Amino acid sequence: MRPFPSAAPFPYDAPNSAALFDRARAVIPGGVNSPVRAFRAVGGTPRFMATGHGPYLTDADGREYVDLVCSWGPLLHGHAHPVVLDAVLRAAASGTSYGAPTEGEVALAEELVARAPVEQVRLVSSGTEATMSAVRLARGVTGRSRVVKFAGCYHGHVDSLLAAAGSGVATLALPDSAGVTATETAQTIVVPYNDRAALTAAFDRFGDEIACVITEAAGGNMGVVPPRDGFNGFLRSTAHAHGALLIVDEVMTGFRVSRSGWYGLDPVAGDITTFGKVMGGGFPAAAFGASAQVMAHLAPVGPVYQAGTLSGNPVATAAGLATLRLATDDAYARLDATSAALRAEVAAALTAASVPHVLGVAGSMFSVFFTDPAVTPAVGDYEQARTQDATVYRAFFHAMLARGVYLPPSGFESWFVSTVHDGAALDRVVAALPAAARAAAEALEGAPA
Ligand SMILES: *Cc1c(COP(=O)(O)O)cnc(C)c1O
Repeated sequence: MRPFPSAAPFPYDAPNSAALFDRARAVIPGGVNSPVRAFRAVGGTPRFMATGHGPYLTDADGREYVDLVCSWGPLLHGHAHPVVLDAVLRAAASGTSYGAPTEGEVALAEELVARAPVEQVRLVSSGTEATMSAVRLARGVTGRSRVVKFAGCYHGHVDSLLAAAGSGVATLALPDSAGVTATETAQTIVVPYNDRAALTAAFDRFGDEIACVITEAAGGNMGVVPPRDGFNGFLRSTAHAHGALLIVDEVMTGFRVSRSGWYGLDPVAGDITTFGKVMGGGFPAAAFGASAQVMAHLAPVGPVYQAGTLSGNPVATAAGLATLRLATDDAYARLDATSAALRAEVAAALTAASVPHVLGVAGSMFSVFFTDPAVTPAVGDYEQARTQDATVYRAFFHAMLARGVYLPPSGFESWFVSTVHDGAALDRVVAALPAAARAAAEALEGAPA
């Protein structure tokens, strides 16, 4: 790896990123192709990235960062891993898309089926497509229309799932985005995460109209908020008692927190499971899967239509397969150890600076909530996640960025490590932490950071 200039703050302005951001804003709304990249939650200039190697990113101004975002989860083995790269280059050299079946898709499907509680999968190109198709399949199988989702869980930008809780528990959901009609969310019921009574109330009221409950296997999109012990099992038994299906969304956790995803840590099988992120190895590939009986409802075998021009793309499947083949038990043990070491360092630095915080942990995924542990010892739902102090995260984030550590640009996101985050990468993070913790402490006191 290339040498890092020093642990001291480097010049913090980013003129090349700023110029690119100006160009981008002229032709791309907000200058970005996915909103959180715009740094709205933390302010400042989003860094335009030029290259990635191993655990490091280099921006358009030539500054190197330890990457703790890992493309929002997919890069289980860091940037440009030689084995993944070799698989990608070989596949691309043989043609990039055929619109006809290939052996690579079969091999990737076999790998998914061997790891996760599904008998068959259908490959798609994004997590959004996977959850959208899973909900359609659940509706097709049950002949029902209502969907239960949890506040703070994100399942991609599917219209019916971009819904916010109504004014009371077990009431009809309201659109969470302009352009989503009340008609589309009227079939969606939003309940608080980890709230068994609210789920029971929803089924008491709408039981025989509910097609499915969809949940993140472990919450990762409101910061990391794992399910309480037995919660996923409760979802499964409650859904089944009413003839509904459980969709477990493993797009983030799948093949990230264990070789079988969250299922490997908390073995509650969904009737339908969705995958994405890691299984594409940095390329657009995702999937949904279920028993052969449920999957037989899909076209061309059954009546539920679902399709995709680039589904099972040979370059994406090669990247995904190479990524998963490197994802051995040993690799997961390393991820867990790296994450635990990082969490301990973060907690120690924040404690030393007297910054109240709570860690949310799900396997090797974690996030830092700047919230008072005396009030919220463990964040269990979206309402509690929202008690965090965004100005403190903002100060912490920028102090880390200035010292060469790239954190998620929002306090509602998971931090991710890779199998190639080694001692040298961790050392850089550790070197940056005390100053960042002090910046957080100053923000907490309202002093200028
Ligand atoms: C990222 C994510 C999605 C959406 O996946 P995209 O590939 O961004 O469409 C869906 N569900 C969960 C749990 C996710 O984390």
